[in-house]
Amino acid sequence: MDNKVNVIGVLTSGGDAPGMNAAIRAVVRTALKEGIKVKGIRRGFLGLLEEDIYDMEYKSVSDIINRGGTILHTARCPEFVKPEVVEKAAQVCKKHGIEGLVVIGGDGSFRGAADLAKHGINTVGVPGTIDLDIACTDYTIGFDTAVNTAIQTVDKVRDTSTSHERCSIIEVMGRHAGFIALWCGIANGAEDILIPERYDYDEQHIIDKINRRRETGKKHYIIINAEGIGDSHAMAERIEKATGMETRATIIGHAQRGGSPTARDRVYAAAMGAKAVDLLRKGASNRVVAHVKGEFVDYDIAEALAMTKDINQYMYDLSKRL
Ligand code: ADP
Repeated sequence: MDNKVNVIGVLTSGGDAPGMNAAIRAVVRTALKEGIKVKGIRRGFLGLLEEDIYDMEYKSVSDIINRGGTILHTARCPEFVKPEVVEKAAQVCKKHGIEGLVVIGGDGSFRGAADLAKHGINTVGVPGTIDLDIACTDYTIGFDTAVNTAIQTVDKVRDTSTSHERCSIIEVMGRHAGFIALWCGIANGAEDILIPERYDYDEQHIIDKINRRRETGKKHYIIINAEGIGDSHAMAERIEKATGMETRATIIGHAQRGGSPTARDRVYAAAMGAKAVDLLRKGASNRVVAHVKGEFVDYDIAEALAMTKDINQYMYDLSKRL
């Protein structure tokens, strides 16, 4: 076995996402099969600093591929931006013999991984976020499950919206990104999709549209709001006042972060987790795994963080045409 590292750690950091467990499982099993020991680090960088670390065996990851959340738990650790805190984390890694570290999370977590790499810990990031807002990759673990959870809720709200001849604003997650909203909007056949990347905050335009649709006998009106748009309840009040149509806001919230991952999330998580271990075995560091044009690839973390990503214009135009 020609491994450049003998012991690796794995942690999940930032917001959780369905499929993170499948990624942890892949890391643990591929590493053990190559003769690399694996240490599980609970609660992200915070747990690393607190040495909340345990040995993971083949069985440590039994029966988790189908479970949402993360068995390693996750936490935010704001002090990790301080160089002395990162240095302490690197010392903890060295104390526990951890030569390589798989960091499953988003851009923030990758920044932490890049800082740790400067202290001699080989780090590889795996993109885990429901928001799809990591620029270097076409796919992030959790997005597919989150969208599927959201569309089921929108379907249900649509039923009651039709019964009551209501306007419904349904707010989905995504932080500053509109990917979940765009996919839900297309999948649910929403009348309007408001995403931060394209919305011009022209509410009168929406009000006029609602009034026109009502004149043609439309019984409901569904608006999908990305969370980055702002206060959906306040918007509902304004629209109701302006149109006279009963308007309610539903915020789907944290349900989108949980639930059993879809096949797509499980399979991509498995491939990305295994690739992270392959990179560490070869001695790579400061890398992030990505899925680009159908291939699993990797980038330098700084290069990945400098990339930008926009909503696919074809998909956005499609949402307007349907
Ligand atoms: P995500 O990884 O999903 O983007 P956050 O932005 O909350 O989530 O980042 C997760 C954790 O990564 C933070 O709590 C912090 O410990 C670490 N982190 C975030 N930004 C930085 C940074 N600029 N430098 C070092 N560590 C960071």
